[in-house]
Order: sequence, then structure tokens, then C-alpha cells
Amino acid sequence: MDAFLEANKWLERADHLLVIAHVSPDGDAISSTLAMGEMLKQLGKSYTLANESPIPSKFSFLPGVDQIQLADEIEKTFQYVIALDCGDQSRLGTGKDLLSDDAEILNIDHHHTNDRFGDVNLVDPHAAATVQILYRWIVSHRLEWTSSLLMQIYTGLLTDTGGFRYANTSAEVLRQAADLIEAGVPAPQIADVVLETVSIEQLQLLQIALRTLTTSTDGLVAWMTLNLADYEHLSTKTDAYDGIVNYARNIMGVDVGILYREVEGESVKVSLRSRAIVDVGQVAQDLGGGGHARAAGVTLSGSLAEVTKLVLSRIEAELE
Ligand code: 5GP
Ligand code: MN
Ligand code: MN
Repeated sequence: MDAFLEANKWLERADHLLVIAHVSPDGDAISSTLAMGEMLKQLGKSYTLANESPIPSKFSFLPGVDQIQLADEIEKTFQYVIALDCGDQSRLGTGKDLLSDDAEILNIDHHHTNDRFGDVNLVDPHAAATVQILYRWIVSHRLEWTSSLLMQIYTGLLTDTGGFRYANTSAEVLRQAADLIEAGVPAPQIADVVLETVSIEQLQLLQIALRTLTTSTDGLVAWMTLNLADYEHLSTKTDAYDGIVNYARNIMGVDVGILYREVEGESVKVSLRSRAIVDVGQVAQDLGGGGHARAAGVTLSGSLAEVTKLVLSRIEAELE
């Protein structure tokens, strides 16, 4: 059966839904959560929006953002769950505790590493963002384009395409964005807030990371490290690390940029970005994480030295 039809049927019998996206949510995760809430409201369903992590303050302009509750502060469980922008169920983090034993999941996502963990899977690895799949849904259901939906869908498209620059910036994305702007989305203001504005802590973290910048002898890989001790005095807001890894990948001649960030529990969060050669989504998935061909991540247990060595050897093998 067509995935949209199947999702429709599922939604017809669902109510009192939980809508949740991945931990440390990005623009697409937050926007798709809010947009799905708007859509459910129009469909006459009751719902709860949640996330494991607090929403970064730069997204506070998004209509309805206060409705997203911290997963840990919700004291009930849900039978009907819509998971957004999650390649696998572990991406829900502590949000998974909100699923009842007989929970049924509608998995809406665009990661090519998606493992189809839902009972119904609306997964399109060719979609640039989860909100792009929601855009199609809004159109096919003839839902009303409220000013909230316009802002939310546009913001997800903007952030997941890196400001309409990455390889996922398809003609469909630009047509959709054009339609949204025509309908009144304040595009330059949104771009200024979500892409052009940084916090002082973000730049201080970048300053620390740049001191560690190293390149491989062939110049194809560049990486930076953040020691817990070096950065924990700075804000640990979940979006504070956004964009740092790009500085490594952006170096002329580099294909893979890596940020290794030591986190609590003797683990290292690895962020991977590639320009053209290495499918970092595959590398991350092989190591237990996931993502896209050009942007992916994984958290590995071990010291910085151990994790650096392991990941570099995987990347070098891909480049051979
Ligand atoms: P970032 O490096 O910005 O945290 O993540 C880049 C991309 O990889 C995002 O699309 C994100 O969804 C995915 N990603 C990051 N960390 C993980 C992880 O631990 N597991 C999975 N499955 N995907 C991840
Ligand atoms: Mn995401
Ligand atoms: Mn996404």
C-alpha cells in the first residue's frame, strides 16, 4: 500500500497522540514537531508535543514552540506516537519512556539510514527534510496553510538544506520555499535568526576547537576535538556546537570534516561532514549511529584517543 494511504489509515484511528523528534533537536526536528501539532489540530485530534532536550532559544520565534514539553516532565504514556526526523528509535532518547507497551509508531523521516522502526513508515530518503514530507501531506489533505504552518515548514527546509546550499536543495525544495515566501513567510528575518546569529558561547567553543585543528597527511580529512575539561565552563546548550564541524570540512581539498566532543560517561560524540567522496552516513551507521551521506553522527564509548583512532581508520579505509 502507498505509504501516505497507510499513514492516513493509521491516523484515522489514532487520537491522544504523542509527537516527538530526535534528541538535541535541530530546525527540522523542532519545525516538524510543531507543524505536525498544527496538522493534528486541524484534523481534530488531541496531541502532546515533546522532546528529550530543551529547545534552543534561537527557535523561540517559532509559533507554538512553548507547547513542546520536556519528555522527562510528562507522567503518562501514549499508545499513538508520531516520531519525526529520527533514523532509529534510540534517537527519541528518554522520550521512548513515554511509549506504552502496546504503542504504535508512525515514523516520518528522511534519513537514508532509517531502519523502518515504525508500525507505519513514511520514509523518503530523497526528501531534503522531514518538513518536506509534511508539506506534501498538507497539500494532499488540503489542510489550511496557517501563518504558523508557513513559518514552521519554511524553517525546516531552510535549516536542513544549510540555507538552500547543500546537495539536498532540489528543485522541489526551492519551489516549495518560493510558494511559502509568496504566501507571506518573512524569509530574511528567519534566515537572520537561525543562520546568521550566533551566541558568544558558540564562538568561544569554536575558538577552543580551532586550536586543535589537524589534517591528515593526504589533506583529505580534517578534525577538531573538544575536551570536556576545556569547554564545560561554557554553555552546554544543545545547539552550541552547531556548525563547528563545518570549519574542518570547508578547508580546500578536504573531503571529511570531523568534530570529536568528549561527553559525560566516558563517551565521545562524533560529528561527521563530507563534501563528495565518503558516505559518512554509512560510516556512522556501521559504528552504531546514523545520518545522511554528507552529514552524520554517532556517540561512541571510549576515550578521545581511542575514538579518534577508530573513526579515522574507518574514514581512511573509505578513502582508499
Ligand atoms: P550532528 O553531527 O549535527 O549531531 O548530526 C548530523 C546528522 O547526523 C543529523 O542528521 C543527525 O540526525 C544524525 N545523527 C547525529 N548523531 C546521531 C546518532 O547518534 N545516531 C543517529 N542515528 N543519527 C545521528
Ligand atoms: Mn534532524
Ligand atoms: Mn531532518
